[in-house]
Amino acid sequence: MKNIHVLAIPYPAQGHVIPLMEAARCFTSNGLKVTFVNTEFTHKRVMSACSEIDGMQMVSISDGVEPGDDRNDLGKLTKTMFQLMPTKLEELINDINKNEDEKITCIIADCYMGWVSRVARKMGIRLAVFCPCSAAVLAMIMSVQKLKDDEVINSRGVPLKNETVQLSTSMPFMDPANFIWACVGDPTTNQIIFDFSILGGMEAAEAADHIICNSTMVLEPGAFTLFPKMLPIGPLLATNTSTNQVGHFWNEDYTCLTWLDQQPLSSVIYVAFGSFTIFDQLQFEELAQALEDTKRPFLWVVRPGTSGGMDYVYPSGYLERICTLGKIVSWAPQQEVLNHPSIACFVSHCGWNSTMEGVSNGVPFLCWPYFADQFFNKTYICDIWKTGVRLNQDETSIVTREEIKSKLEQLLINKTIKENALNLQEKVVDCLLAGNSSNTYLNKFIDWVKEGND
Ligand code: UDP
Repeated sequence: MKNIHVLAIPYPAQGHVIPLMEAARCFTSNGLKVTFVNTEFTHKRVMSACSEIDGMQMVSISDGVEPGDDRNDLGKLTKTMFQLMPTKLEELINDINKNEDEKITCIIADCYMGWVSRVARKMGIRLAVFCPCSAAVLAMIMSVQKLKDDEVINSRGVPLKNETVQLSTSMPFMDPANFIWACVGDPTTNQIIFDFSILGGMEAAEAADHIICNSTMVLEPGAFTLFPKMLPIGPLLATNTSTNQVGHFWNEDYTCLTWLDQQPLSSVIYVAFGSFTIFDQLQFEELAQALEDTKRPFLWVVRPGTSGGMDYVYPSGYLERICTLGKIVSWAPQQEVLNHPSIACFVSHCGWNSTMEGVSNGVPFLCWPYFADQFFNKTYICDIWKTGVRLNQDETSIVTREEIKSKLEQLLINKTIKENALNLQEKVVDCLLAGNSSNTYLNKFIDWVKEGND
């Protein structure tokens, strides 16, 4: 019998692989076959951190980066991928399509892998785009031409104005300095991201029949109304179905869940900054000291080797002093952590997945964005949903221990923020129920995929 066969391809970063794998699990549980294409580098990491991935064919193609070259150089990685991956993907699809019953019915491409749309067009395969960031950010990407016409940015994407812009009256205001392509890295990296990822994403979004988003109508009504092609099917979380999260690049340390079991209800400060964020040693020490000074239980994710290659150095005697108060792990099962009743708040870099996970669990945020779309996500949390507070840097660009401690104290006693977070959680989780918005859009999308097999 002929399979309805979806090929899913994420951008090779942690915050892209996890939600697309979760979307893919929704498809397999609806009877679709999924081939999930990682880069070879990512594939090895995912497979070594996960013993079993239910019902999906996990395959890989090269990202074209030579051994010894720096994959953390996002500009270089992006350029290489856009140049070398199309041929590899075409070869893979041709290989799969040799079996008439297995032929690829449609491709779902991450919006930051815009080159995939050309492969899909060339091979005559239907295309959908997956948006792992907020719908508002993708709406901005889809509006690049309008931003140029309105002289908000120049032809190379560089912001020309300081004033905030609004794509429609129901959309949040956005600061051009926070456009995703303006805050990824140095000017050269930003330019490559604009030329390849952003313009490529725009092209793919235009070419796609549908864009599926890890978001909900209640969180971003303005963006979804403006671009009805975007279908909110989120939140895409493993905890929705009481399963383990898949797609991790590191092994999760489950001892922190046992530790959380021993802490009082709503007492623990959870501190985690996703998979990219890097602190310098001074900033690291300020944070360490603030957590100790706050005198509340804390669970802190410290990824090893992220301070520019070396490991962080804790203040003298720190680990001995905090051993009854704090738990430090190198990678947590974050969705389960945020779902734990002992969690009081989330000190977060505001990556979109962390944002969705915190919101879905009614957890208030202390926002500490690092790069890319995280600055805009902070705006959603602090100014639109009002479920968190922001940290400010001092005149030397440091977030001081006093600032962290004082904002944590403010957040933990703020009943309105907690109420807002619980109200939002209820509305967001409700979207997944049968017949409600995210569930309806998911079914609409699956029907579209199935039509391709007629
Ligand atoms: N994550 C995790 N354990 C950790 C830290 C992060 O499982 O200790 C997961 C988190 O649940 C989220 C993803 O890694 O799904 C990070 O994505 P996000 O968009 O928040 O940030 P990014 O890593 O892309 O900056």
